[in-house]
Amino acid sequence: METELEKVVSWALELGLATGHADTLDDLLGELKPQIKQMQDELYGASEYKPGDLPPEGYQAWHDWAVVQRKAGIEQAKCVKCGKWRTPQELNGSVCKDQMCGEKSTG
Ligand SMILES: [Zn+2]
Repeated sequence: METELEKVVSWALELGLATGHADTLDDLLGELKPQIKQMQDELYGASEYKPGDLPPEGYQAWHDWAVVQRKAGIEQAKCVKCGKWRTPQELNGSVCKDQMCGEKSTG
């Protein structure tokens, strides 16, 4: 009969995590947490942005944000009004939440 601890250890090993010398489930989870955090940082480039965040101002910031959204598998949809591709968090139904939606860019 597999214990809870053994179950989590084999789960962690399957994911390639180090399980250390944890004697209890709490110890083990404490060891796994920073490893999973590090994997997230690698995946998302230690970005301050998280999937589902609204886009920031500024080109570089926006780019960092967009990478996080894409890696998280967030699919963009086309705004029916302005035709720009938007993430779900930027849309209200099928139209941008942005008040500038529909206005031509002057840049
Ligand atoms: Zn729009």
